[in-house]
Amino acid sequence: MTLVAPARPTGTPLGGPSLAQERKLVTSIPGPKSKALSERKARAVSAGVGIALPVYVAAAGGGVLVDIDGNSLIDLGSGIAVTGVGNSAPRVVEAVAAQLAQFTHTCFTVAPYDSYIEVAEALNRLTPGDHEKRSVLFNSGAEAVENAVKIARHFTGKQAIVAFDHAYHGRTNLTMGLTAKNQPYKSGFGPFAPEVYRAPMSYPLRDGGLDGVVAANRAISQIEKQVGASNLAAIIIEPIQGEGGFIVPAPGFLATLLAWCRANEVVFIADEIQTGFARTGHMFACEFEGIVPDMICTAKGIAGGLPLSAVTGRADIMDSPQAGGLGGTYGGNPLACAAALATIDTYETDNLVERAATLGQIMGDRLTALAAVDSRIIEVRGRGAMTAIEIVDPATGEPDAGLTNRVIAACHAQGVILLGCGTYGNVIRLLPPLSIPDDLLLEGLQVLADALAADSAAA
Ligand SMILES: *Cc1c(COP(=O)(O)O)cnc(C)c1O
Repeated sequence: MTLVAPARPTGTPLGGPSLAQERKLVTSIPGPKSKALSERKARAVSAGVGIALPVYVAAAGGGVLVDIDGNSLIDLGSGIAVTGVGNSAPRVVEAVAAQLAQFTHTCFTVAPYDSYIEVAEALNRLTPGDHEKRSVLFNSGAEAVENAVKIARHFTGKQAIVAFDHAYHGRTNLTMGLTAKNQPYKSGFGPFAPEVYRAPMSYPLRDGGLDGVVAANRAISQIEKQVGASNLAAIIIEPIQGEGGFIVPAPGFLATLLAWCRANEVVFIADEIQTGFARTGHMFACEFEGIVPDMICTAKGIAGGLPLSAVTGRADIMDSPQAGGLGGTYGGNPLACAAALATIDTYETDNLVERAATLGQIMGDRLTALAAVDSRIIEVRGRGAMTAIEIVDPATGEPDAGLTNRVIAACHAQGVILLGCGTYGNVIRLLPPLSIPDDLLLEGLQVLADALAADSAAA
């Protein structure tokens, strides 16, 4: 059968990589049509849903996003590290369209289908370690984290969970409790789940450059005194923290924590929801230090934009829960599985791990050169296509969230989508789709440089 594209308003371009790869502004940002939708949004959508950049999207692909006013913006956010393969990536579109015409939902726990198994096999193969593994699929990152904790508790018969300073693990009740930052994620939404404890992170810029092993032993000592290994089911950690500010722990930090977990029958859960799938220049960020976690949570980059998440882990741990103990209506939906298989194929066939490393080189070189002559950029960090700058007031050395927000807003006005992050709100993060052309990325970096320069001129 032939699949016919649905009717579109005339003039709306189709998304995907064939979309013109250019920054082109035809109105101010946001344009009049987007502004009108913002007014409708305010009347129709909960005010609790904040918007980083209120341009309403008509099409996206490659490294751009085209809005309903006809502006073409450079995408350095990938919908928060989701569209690693790019929006409407051709293999994904084809696979999902074909699945859409076959069947859309049966619930895997009612009447299963092979694509779910294929996704599990791919995850078991791609995630760090060549031990026997099992996977289970869900819809969102937070749901994967919730289930990783459920499974670790079931397997160990213990209850306590340790998360780290600056951590972000989601917005459901348990994952809010695991998340460190109060505003905007937690404030007013408590009480939070019990038996969640927090340990100090390795944050070289802000812990005096503490050696990774020393920082890990500081955390371990606190865990032993305040929780006790005999009560601790799992520690959960992002190998590079995302929302917390793209914090890369000092070498040895993760390995020392992992060794302690192994010696104490504590499950080591890596939350690779943001770092996963080629983003960092490895398929998974744990690979930088040769870390093999007991369990790994994935989501964001897994399915080219369709909602899917997973927990992958040691077979003995993953097989612990009783049949029926894990699941959910939509987890591993056939459309999302088709998308994941095409997405994973794209990462592998198009060598996107290598591409992420190249993008990281381009961003690192440009930003390091900027930082060398601009004392407001205190650090350039991250790995691969997950790179950030941390911004301070050079007079005091204090985080400068005001400047950070002004620069991000100035980039938005110039048609470059950038996101902030960090516990102190003073980090600008770059998460380009791995499908972005070099020249567009360089243009986006130039807009960022110009915005920083203009702000110091205005100060
Ligand atoms: C985004 C994110 C989550 C939550 O994922 P959702 O799909 O938004 O629930 C959890 N952990 C990390 C590290 C994330 O970046």
